[in-house]
Amino acid sequence: MSRLHPTNSVMKVAIVGAGPAGSTLGAFLARKGISTVMFDDGARPPLIVGESLVPQMIPVFRRLGIEDQVAALGVYKPGVMFTFSEKDTLLLSFTAARGVLPTYAYNVPRKEFDSLILNTAITSGLRYIETAAKIEVDKSATHGESRMKLSPETLAQIPEWNGKQPDLLIDASGRRRLFAKALDIKAAVGRRKDISHFAHFEDCPWPEPPGTVMIIRLAHGWAWRIPLPDSKLSMGVVLNKEIAKKFGATPEEQLENLIESEPHLGKACPNRRRVSPVATFANYQLISECGSGKNWAMVGDAFGFVDPMLSPGLCMAMVSAEKLAATIPATTKTLAHIPAKLTKYWHWYRETLGAWQHLVDHFYDGRIFAIQRSGMDMSQRYPGLISNVMERHIGKNLSGMAAGAFINRPYSRWLLHMLSQYGIRGHKPEDFAIQ
Ligand SMILES: Cc1cc2nc3c(=O)[nH]c(=O)nc-3n(C[C@H](O)[C@H](O)[C@H](O)COP(=O)(O)OP(=O)(O)OC[C@H]3O[C@@H](n4cnc5c(N)ncnc54)[C@H](O)[C@@H]3O)c2cc1C
Repeated sequence: MSRLHPTNSVMKVAIVGAGPAGSTLGAFLARKGISTVMFDDGARPPLIVGESLVPQMIPVFRRLGIEDQVAALGVYKPGVMFTFSEKDTLLLSFTAARGVLPTYAYNVPRKEFDSLILNTAITSGLRYIETAAKIEVDKSATHGESRMKLSPETLAQIPEWNGKQPDLLIDASGRRRLFAKALDIKAAVGRRKDISHFAHFEDCPWPEPPGTVMIIRLAHGWAWRIPLPDSKLSMGVVLNKEIAKKFGATPEEQLENLIESEPHLGKACPNRRRVSPVATFANYQLISECGSGKNWAMVGDAFGFVDPMLSPGLCMAMVSAEKLAATIPATTKTLAHIPAKLTKYWHWYRETLGAWQHLVDHFYDGRIFAIQRSGMDMSQRYPGLISNVMERHIGKNLSGMAAGAFINRPYSRWLLHMLSQYGIRGHKPEDFAIQ
């Protein structure tokens, strides 16, 4: 196998971090015959946030050959229901992606899901080393070049490379953003800086239709209900840290009191039993200003992360990993062309994360819900074929964007822009904004 004693011309890649981004990349690289080594510090918490997936990930599962296993460990997800007032809901059904993408996704317990992708990478031929990797900025780089290298003790863990540094180093360290910190790479930062608490519960009814994820606008922030296997339900809240303190001194108190204060959570699940500890994560919106250098690149959260409300995190982690794998050749013969390809890759990444951010902004500032209300008023005033066609067309584009299918599609983005400018009548977006 190539990873053992690779010849001089076989590409050598070291990946730091074995989350979904690193493992997906590793699987695709190892399958190309690239000598791939992946490090993970084993510091993943037992309960990991990020359980709701989008249809754009299904083709990646198929290419990895794991869709059946994802289906077996997860719950079929037909779409997302947004509840933005006591009586107003907006259902984004993934059937809108028909003809472009599969019309469903899954909700998954993260521990099992992440292990599945890691095992897929290992069985594809990657060498996995469970230890924290240390990286250094390569000071010998010529002027203007940005190069990274493994520290001597980390390189010593890969004896088959005979002391040679990898041809390419990948930062898949998630929100730790190892390379960005080492190289002092700045980032564009969005306005949300929240805290999120969540836990798993039993004896809760699932939202309808079965498997649908529910996103609920709260007086401050928002909440999720994600159906999981074994009749479990993940419930979580995302809100400003200072406001969260008003609901209790501990994460447990804050989550419980927030659930109790909201009819779509507390009243909907009166017999709930918490069956996991409460996990706490920070929520933020961040896109790095640079994602590659002469011999390195970033993938997944290490490059950027934009808010979980529409669940783009894992999708971008895995889709970007596959895209990055496609830019890396199996041999070092065309090494000189790689930096330009990597630049093209992260420019695409930045643009796509920006498109997700743009869409999610419309949910936070209330424009989506004002458009929905205005549309409903219109359909009531002018019932009939034209209203029905318009409603379906707008629904298809919005749902298609949320599925990931149309997120970069110029027409869908233009339609959203036009609706925001001219489609809101008699309603104020700020009345539906998420504080
Ligand atoms: C509140 C919240 C809710 C979310 N909900 C969703 C959701 O519903 N759906 C969704 O798709 N996404 C969601 N996400 C986002 C999702 O969890 C992340 O986008 C995803 O986990 C990113 O994967 P990754 O592989 O890039 O990073 P990670 O999963 O963070 O993996 C990085 C790995 O690198 C390891 N590592 C770090 N430093 C080193 C080192 N020096 N050496 C070795 N290993 C190292 C870490 O221990 C870790 O194992 C949510 C995020 C938040 C904050």
